[in-house]
Order: sequence, then structure tokens, then C-alpha cells
Amino acid sequence: MSAILRVSDLRKSYSGIHALDGVSFDVEGGSITGLIGPNGSGKSTAIDCISGFQKLDGGTVTLGGTDITSRPAHLIARAGLMRTFQTVRVYDRLSLADNLAIAAQQFDPAGWIDEFLRTRRYRQAVESSEQRARQLVELIGLQRYYEAETGILSYGQKKLVALAAALMPHPKIVVLDEPVAGVNPSRIREIEVALQQLNRAGETFLIVEHNVEFITTLCHQVIVLEQGRKLTEGTAAEIHTDPRVLEAYLGI
Ligand code: ADP
Ligand code: MG
Repeated sequence: MSAILRVSDLRKSYSGIHALDGVSFDVEGGSITGLIGPNGSGKSTAIDCISGFQKLDGGTVTLGGTDITSRPAHLIARAGLMRTFQTVRVYDRLSLADNLAIAAQQFDPAGWIDEFLRTRRYRQAVESSEQRARQLVELIGLQRYYEAETGILSYGQKKLVALAAALMPHPKIVVLDEPVAGVNPSRIREIEVALQQLNRAGETFLIVEHNVEFITTLCHQVIVLEQGRKLTEGTAAEIHTDPRVLEAYLGI
């Protein structure tokens, strides 16, 4: 495996507060990597800066070897770094299939002229997008809802639809912001399984999460932030037993 995402010496201050004070880490292609840390440790700032929703004061971000530092968010997405948000963004009145078709069109090479003329290129794009949609829906375990209105799904299932939508344009990596926040505990396992299935199919994830249990079951590699710095990183097992991590979380 090699690093698909490489962040180096990230720096960001808010009126004197060092939200990020020189954070570096790699995400390996094909991995599930976790980013954890107590409240205020800089997790949200880190992913906002990586995905172009905030401007960095310093540091670099490379994606698949390309420098994407401080590019606008839509160009970073186009370069292959997609993210999901803490609040779900799906169209309740549309079917799951249509939600995914819309997500695919976002970066569709077949433009509106192709669409208008129903060119072969357009038909091919629609066909391959439908194939991708069906494959993703199966991997997240919602195939029986493919034609159903998204509105009937549970909150956790809608989060999976938003994740599938992010995956439609074949990104290099998806950054997930607190995927199980607000999800009914009985539904967390469903999200866990979906992420594992997608990962086995080759998808790469960087997951920011407050739920340490969730992160340590799922992630190959875990990065721990504390007060804008990297406290440590390691495998889930290493992190779970690291006294510094317990101290950072529990203040003991
Ligand atoms: P986390 O997501 O780990 O809880 P954040 O990245 O949200 O941490 O915050 C890191 C630090 O930066 C905190 O001290 C927080 O108060 C501060 N911070 C974050 N966003 C802003 C902002 N927009 N304005 C001022 N301070 C901020
Ligand atoms: Mg946060």
C-alpha cells in the first residue's frame, strides 16, 4: 500500500488559538483510517482544511501525488477527495436510484449538449452510472430500497445513501465526518458493515469520529489529535491500550 492522501505540517489559527499546530499524517490507499481526539483537538478543522472548506495558514495536502493545498472545495472534490457531512444531505422525495444518478451527474463528462442530443456518450455515461449505483447500493445493503423514496429510510440508512452518493464519481478517498453521530445505537452495526464491505471493494476512507469504540473496530490505522497536535498514531489495538490516549480522553 502507498499513501493516497498525505498531509504535512498543517497549521491553522483562529485569533491566536492554534487549532492545528503542525499536524502530519498519511492515509494509505485501500485503508480505513481514523482521526480521533477529544473535543476541540482540531479534527473538524483538519478535515475542513484538507477538503478546502477552510484556508490553511501553512502546510501541504497531496492527493495521489498531486498538490491540492488550498484549492477551492469543488476542485478538491473533482480531484478525487469527497466528504460527507455530519448532517445528512439526501433528497427525501426522490428514490435512492435518483439520488445516486444526480450525484453521478455532478461530475459527468457528458454535458448538457450530449444530454439534449441523447448522444452515445450520454447513454454510456447513464449506463455506467446505473451500474455503479446498483453495485454501491448492494454493498451498503439497501438493494431492496433501490426504487423506494429515500424519505422512508432511517437516519442511519440515509447516511449510507449520502455515502454512496459521495462514492458515485469514483473518488480516490472519502472523508466521513462523524458517520455514527446521532445514529440509533442499534443501527451503528449496519454502518460498520457497509463501510467494511465498501472497503473490501477497494474504497479508501478517512473517518473522523467521537465514538472510539466504532473507530477501533473499523480502522486499520488511527491518528490521535490533542490540542492541535498529533498525540500518537498506530493500529486500533495500539491506540486502545495507549495510556496517553486514555489520559487525553479521560483527563486522568
Ligand atoms: P474538534 O473537531 O476536534 O472538536 P475543532 O477543529 O472544531 O476541534 O476545534 C479546534 C480548536 O479551534 C478549538 O479550540 C476551537 O474552539 C477552535 N475553533 C474551531 N473553529 C473555530 C472558529 N471558526 N473560530 C474560532 N475558533 C475556532
Ligand atoms: Mg468537530
